Amino acid sequence: MDVNQIWTSVLQSMENNINSTVGYKIHVKDAVTPVLFENSVFLIAVPMSINKNMIEFRYKKDIEAALERITGKKINLSVMVSEHTDAEKIIEQKNTPEISSEQFGLDMVNPKYTFENFVIGSSNEYATAAAISATEQPGYIYNPLFLYGNSGLGKTHLMHAMGNRIKENHPDFNIIYVTSEFFTNEFIASLKEFTTAEFRKKYRAADVLLVDDVQFLETKEATQEEFFHTFNDLYSLNKQIVLTSDRKPSDLTVLEERLRTRFSQGLIIDITIPNYETRMAILQKKAEFQNTVISEEVLGYIADRIKSNIRELEGALLKIISMSEMSHREINIELAEEVLKSILPKDGIVKITPDKIMDKVSVYYKITKDDLKGKIKTKNISVPRQVAMYLCKKLTDMNYSMIGNVFGGKDRTTVLHNVNKIEKEMESNEALKSDIKYIIKDLESI
Ligand code: ADP
Ligand code: MG
Repeated sequence: MDVNQIWTSVLQSMENNINSTVGYKIHVKDAVTPVLFENSVFLIAVPMSINKNMIEFRYKKDIEAALERITGKKINLSVMVSEHTDAEKIIEQKNTPEISSEQFGLDMVNPKYTFENFVIGSSNEYATAAAISATEQPGYIYNPLFLYGNSGLGKTHLMHAMGNRIKENHPDFNIIYVTSEFFTNEFIASLKEFTTAEFRKKYRAADVLLVDDVQFLETKEATQEEFFHTFNDLYSLNKQIVLTSDRKPSDLTVLEERLRTRFSQGLIIDITIPNYETRMAILQKKAEFQNTVISEEVLGYIADRIKSNIRELEGALLKIISMSEMSHREINIELAEEVLKSILPKDGIVKITPDKIMDKVSVYYKITKDDLKGKIKTKNISVPRQVAMYLCKKLTDMNYSMIGNVFGGKDRTTVLHNVNKIEKEMESNEALKSDIKYIIKDLESI
């Protein structure tokens, strides 16, 4: 059975079990593109991170159970967010005969992201320069190269661009790209199947190892241990290692000290928010790539409104283009305004609401929003709840009673107590402080 047939069977067998709720329709049925089934990992792609979160919170177990019924094996479900039609492209490319299947999986470099189509500006010039020079003599210049910055600023793009450039210069090199999540899932699957030897062999045979979003390793202790050994082996053989994260190594406070030290021993460089000129240049390049001519005025209109996330910037542009195609309308300010209205709040200023806080906090701690509003007192839920209340107090105009209301009708003294508790705890608990800092950063970047 191929991956599509399996997915079709999953959907059929799921619907008997799960009520056909709206959530299921939106986040699973309509959103999922099956991508790959390999080594007990079933990978699906969804267009938005909310789909991914919902699947992970609500549907993962049921899907895995269905996968087990269908394949007769224990399967790990892995969910990736793939903007626009990337999932289709991945499948397309995977099925293209010139690219062999072992050459194009999720553990490989995506040819779509290159240095040629990466716009350089002051926000990323050091990162790009470091990335380019590391590709000149992989393993010998900056090792590891550690790139960090907020979501949507081009870390993954740069990483793939490095992989593609090295491939050009060294066609024989074994270049592996993985997200730390994929690495973790594959490792866990290998433990279950007693294939860790093969798993190790695969990663230790890399000439270049690109690991994206290493912040997700923070809570995965066994995987950290495994990754530590992989890292050491490759490092001692002068194999190039590139890592990305949303924070710098010293802010990965939950990560084991020895990994943090390893991550810091090469070059650490950040990517920051692009300025207006860079945003314009990116929009121009992306429009060109879509073979669409768009006036400076319209591009400027977009660049003025979306400032801190290139993924959003690109998303807005693509929405405008597809809107114009669908409705046969010319791309002008009016159309752009209409589309942006659906993306941005009225005044263009991102307003932080309790709902957004709960969204981010629940995603960060991998619990549900209902948990935040509920009464469960176990630490893994009560701490995030206290954090969410603290953030509401800090970032919105709400008073304690109002906050209590949105958290399932708690009284003001409970909220006050919780907020104080977090404030006090932050004085000595560095990990908590860094979690909160991260969530705030995430809330502030649209
Ligand atoms: P991150 O990994 O930091 O979250 P990505 O690398 O996924 O961000 O970038 C998000 C989107 O923005 C991608 O489609 C990428 O091609 C695009 N992008 C980011 N930076 C640039 C840039 N400097 N030039 C062109 N495209 C960019
Ligand atoms: Mg990324």
